[in-house]
Amino acid sequence: PAPAAPASTPPRGAGGFDPETARRDVPVLHRTVNGRPLVWLDNGATTQKPRQVIEALGTYYSAANSNIHRGAHTMAREATETYEAGRAAVARFLGAESPDSIVFTRGTTEAINLVAQTWGRTNIGPGDEILVPRLEHHSNIVPWQQLAKEKRARLVPVPLLADGSVDQAAFADLLSFRTQLVAVSQASNVLGTVPPVKEMAALAHRYGAKVLVDGAQAVAHFPVDVRDLGADFYVFSGHKLFGPTGIGALYGRPELLEAMPPWQGGGNMIDQVDFTGSTYAPVPHRFEAGTGHISGVAGLLAAIDWLTGFDREAVAAYEHELLAYAERALAEVPGLEILGSAPGKIAVLTFTLAGLDPADIARLLDRDGIAVRAGHHCAQPSLRHYGLETAARASLALYNTPQDVDRLATSLLRMREDIA
Ligand code: PLP
Repeated sequence: PAPAAPASTPPRGAGGFDPETARRDVPVLHRTVNGRPLVWLDNGATTQKPRQVIEALGTYYSAANSNIHRGAHTMAREATETYEAGRAAVARFLGAESPDSIVFTRGTTEAINLVAQTWGRTNIGPGDEILVPRLEHHSNIVPWQQLAKEKRARLVPVPLLADGSVDQAAFADLLSFRTQLVAVSQASNVLGTVPPVKEMAALAHRYGAKVLVDGAQAVAHFPVDVRDLGADFYVFSGHKLFGPTGIGALYGRPELLEAMPPWQGGGNMIDQVDFTGSTYAPVPHRFEAGTGHISGVAGLLAAIDWLTGFDREAVAAYEHELLAYAERALAEVPGLEILGSAPGKIAVLTFTLAGLDPADIARLLDRDGIAVRAGHHCAQPSLRHYGLETAARASLALYNTPQDVDRLATSLLRMREDIA
């Protein structure tokens, strides 16, 4: 017989937020997997899409598909309006100075590479230092490693404490006038850590360093204000924000974007082209060569509208209660250890279960219709901080419920009994 679900009090619409209001908008959450109702706990990898986003993509293609900026016809104008409305929505969502501070990219990874290859190649030189906490996703390590190699600069890891927080004393010690850039996640995809980015940015600025904030995991969980944060650059992916894949954004402080050379060359990013030389379009179009992901922007716009339609503080409070509930529930599974317990972490539970390989945990949970991720989570240095190469991860979003957590805990308890 299946062991009973852990007995502790589930959160009930903490802060006035009811997850059912989000859940009913998301069709895929109502499917079954392996004969069981789906429990989607892989939100750190990608989030599920509300029908508003799905409909925005359909409407774009069925009623308004056109290339933008080119051609003086009605549909080109409509597509351009949608694209630029998306840019304005992202600017509002991040608290940016203006839509011109927003560059569309394929996602977080491309946005970081854009900064590394434009701002970085212009501003980083031999002996300069780039500070990166050990908890970063590979996307916020490898582009800097490549840049450091090319420019004979140094990539300096900032150590973590046992609970998975970024060691602030070490960070302060490592900062110097050689530091040109601090690249830090606002929330870790493995440990859930939410570093004190505002304080870190203020300190980094005292040394004249610039600060890039990776918001890939943060944006879905709490409101962001890039200017309050002191971010010089801020990056995120639409697909982790209930929007489509293949679209994301880079925010750059206006004077930094203005001073950056173009990245890729091609259509849309130019002013005049001649074989004697070319001139470039103003910011932000200078960084958007070729036809962009126009339908993706329509979907991202719908995703932002959907998410900001909820009381975001109430959502964050609910997610924190759900995390605490999940921590209590998983604590009742013998042999289970959760990595990272930094205060204020987002609802990410990366764990190991004695006697079981993480890949087997994910496979067995999948048999019960529960989707979690197993592996290195594209953040090998943060797992190695705990002496691990792989782990299982359950990552929660606003549409997850205490019942989802109960299903996870029950399934894990059964797994433990089966191997005992
Ligand atoms: N940064 C963090 C913290 C992430 O969690 C991820 C994705 O998991 C990325 C960057 C990369 O995002 P994308 O693959 O959408 O470019």
